[in-house]
Amino acid sequence: MNVNQHPSQPGHDRFGFSSFSDGLYIGGAWRSAAGESRIQVIDPSTEAVIATVPDATVADAAAAVEAAASAAEGWRETPPRKRSEILRRCFELMIERSETLATLISLENGKALRDARGEVAYAAEFFRWNAEEAVRISGEFGIAPSGTNRIVVDYQPIGICVLITPWNFPAAMATRKIAPALAAGCTVILKPASETPLTAYALAALYEEAGVPPGVVNVLTTSTPGPVTANLLADPRVRKLSFTGSTGVGRMLLAEAAKNVISCSMELGGNAPFIVFDDADIDAAIEGLMVAKMRNAGEACTAANRIYVQSGIHDAFAEKFTQRMAALRVGPGVASDTECGPMITRKAVEKIDRLVADAISRGARVLCGGQAPAGRGFFYLPTVLADVSPASDMSCEEIFGPVAPLYRFESEAEVVAIANDTEYGLAAYIYTRDIGRGMRVASKVEAGMVALNRGLVSDPAAPFGGVKQSGLGREGGQHHGIAEFMEAKYIATSF
Ligand code: NAP
Repeated sequence: MNVNQHPSQPGHDRFGFSSFSDGLYIGGAWRSAAGESRIQVIDPSTEAVIATVPDATVADAAAAVEAAASAAEGWRETPPRKRSEILRRCFELMIERSETLATLISLENGKALRDARGEVAYAAEFFRWNAEEAVRISGEFGIAPSGTNRIVVDYQPIGICVLITPWNFPAAMATRKIAPALAAGCTVILKPASETPLTAYALAALYEEAGVPPGVVNVLTTSTPGPVTANLLADPRVRKLSFTGSTGVGRMLLAEAAKNVISCSMELGGNAPFIVFDDADIDAAIEGLMVAKMRNAGEACTAANRIYVQSGIHDAFAEKFTQRMAALRVGPGVASDTECGPMITRKAVEKIDRLVADAISRGARVLCGGQAPAGRGFFYLPTVLADVSPASDMSCEEIFGPVAPLYRFESEAEVVAIANDTEYGLAAYIYTRDIGRGMRVASKVEAGMVALNRGLVSDPAAPFGGVKQSGLGREGGQHHGIAEFMEAKYIATSF
């Protein structure tokens, strides 16, 4: 398969990088970092450096906490209706600018434009949803069982929040945290991933335009996330850490946050099983798998990582699915016809290569792909592997790329047991025409989210999150997401 040529490089000036990435965004101002070094931003489709951003130090982290603290009271006291209107404006501006934002995401992350457009719509929706939530935060009132007093429960903003996000959804992982935090009345400090900082800074400029007051949202990029984050979490005014990223980094941050007993929400890695029973609609299951596996070229925490197909339909399924995967157009994210963009870094390609080589060495057959194409850019060909051994590394590690390993299974009990044989528990997918079996397996599978006869679970109106080592807490959903940024205060009173 040939990888498409990069289209004429878009004029980077049209994104106005220099207007929003020359400084850290702290206290409503674009400020130089205390140190002089800069972080390079690389287009994964071409390996070209497209911009540089400031490299924050611990001194900058302290300035960000000061700014968030200065703005805290004003924002907390801002009437919910006003907060709601500002959030609504963020939604509207994101929709108005969606094509520019999608192109920027595509450029720095590499994802296909169609995926980037989907991300912008999803990311913006967190503002619309939380604009609606901001005016519906209510407390509780009751009579103590003894009859001696009344119980009043008030929900208050938790305090300053540190938000840390990954590169795979540079807009959505940030807005999924910022929107509910602001709706709850909190001020925040966002540390985006070093690979994709431009979207975070572009959005910071957009929030300002929407009326978010100075200091309510602060954004800093750093090449030393360990010390900078430790410094942020050491400040007693910081009361919340909301992290999305790998389980390994999540574990370290939980330990760091424990020092000041900071409330943590953790959205971590996944190892999603995709289960297709003999009675499934094969075409619908393949359609769902193309989304569950190939959205974002497989670089999603919810990506189907282990595909279990019951033996009666296994071979027919494998053949049809391979045809779809082999036909995907691989190319630069920003090219209009690309269906599978590059991986984020060379290191990511090397990891995928290692996992595929390991599976082949244990007996897997390559039905299509199976290698990184020659040339520039961090590409990997859409790959289908059959007869993958359960002992392969890819059965317990996140592949995070366009590789679909097929496993054969015989019975319902067997597939539930192997689906649950992992430390992760984020998403799971089930295809069957027997709704009773679908609901039974959905309830037995250890995952925070189950898609039954669907290839997509993410929805701002539904609680997103994992069990086991996939995370703690939920984002989005009715009350769940916003509750992560509030504390219950109980007042006992007699009258
Ligand atoms: P990562 O390496 O854990 O990085 C995530 C963020 O943590 C980045 O901003 C990174 O900064 C920062 N970081 C790294 N080391 C740190 C440290 N010692 N202290 C503080 N911050 C630190 O993850 P990734 O490779 O960007 O993202 C992929 C992972 O995220 C996958 O495991 C995926 O499953 C998971 N994910 C989960 C969800 C979910 O909702 N559950 C959603 C999306 C992704 P730098 O960029 O500067 O290293």
